[in-house]
Amino acid sequence: MMNLPRDLYDPEHLAFGEAYAAFLKEHIAPHHAEWERNGMVERSAWRKAGERGFLAMDVPTEYGGQGLTDFRYNAILSETQARDFLPGPMFGLGTDVVIPYITRYGTDEQKQRWLPKLVSGEWISCIGMSEPETGSDLASITTRADDKGGHYAVHGRKMWISNGHISDLIVLVVKTDPTKRHKGITLLVVERDQSHYRTVRLLDKIGYLARDVKGNS
Ligand SMILES: Cc1cc2nc3c(=O)[nH]c(=O)nc-3n(C[C@H](O)[C@H](O)[C@H](O)COP(=O)(O)OP(=O)(O)OC[C@H]3O[C@@H](n4cnc5c(N)ncnc54)[C@H](O)[C@@H]3O)c2cc1C
Repeated sequence: MMNLPRDLYDPEHLAFGEAYAAFLKEHIAPHHAEWERNGMVERSAWRKAGERGFLAMDVPTEYGGQGLTDFRYNAILSETQARDFLPGPMFGLGTDVVIPYITRYGTDEQKQRWLPKLVSGEWISCIGMSEPETGSDLASITTRADDKGGHYAVHGRKMWISNGHISDLIVLVVKTDPTKRHKGITLLVVERDQSHYRTVRLLDKIGYLARDVKGNS
């Protein structure tokens, strides 16, 4: 990742980045080699990051967040983690990609139910788009969700899902109308404990060895 120009940030962003660098040095760096050997970051890393305010900073305070909607706070965390080359814990995947779906589109009940746990790091999230046969042509996914009145029956397999093994909450990309391409797509939020979601195996990779990227489920 290319470092962003220094004049992008105000002193409070730089201080946030320095605090994160200190956190990485104390709590992440000493374990990173072991996590690479295991192919997996320990869950406790999310808790520690959450306790220190490094997860989902933009979540409103009524749902446990800090209400920091200035994306430069997110950017400096990514930049710092890349600079220190500690790529294992994918905190940014939840903060920048998955959790904003809930913050922006969730009902108040859904936000109350999920956001505090995601901000604190008690829960980990992921997004399931790709499938064994479908990557960038997302409109071709075949995972199907049938509305059973009160619940959905989901059939399909996902692949290459970062944090897929360790996640408690999955934003799952499915077809609710298989006759359509992108217009038949819906995002379902799946709680692992409330579903039959299962992961099959961790995938071997040539880099980012501590990142948990799962195979089919
Ligand atoms: C480490 C890792 C983590 C990942 N994490 C996630 C995750 O968390 N969630 C998730 O859903 N997915 C994840 N993915 C999957 C990722 O989203 C897909 O790999 C990506 O969408 C590309 O799809 P593909 O690999 O099937 O390649 P393809 O779509 O088969 O593309 C192959 C090649 O063809 C090119 N190509 C494709 N379409 C066109 C076109 N129309 N015109 C010209 N060239 C084209 C591409 O640029 C590429 O070079 C992850 C992948 C990796 C490697």
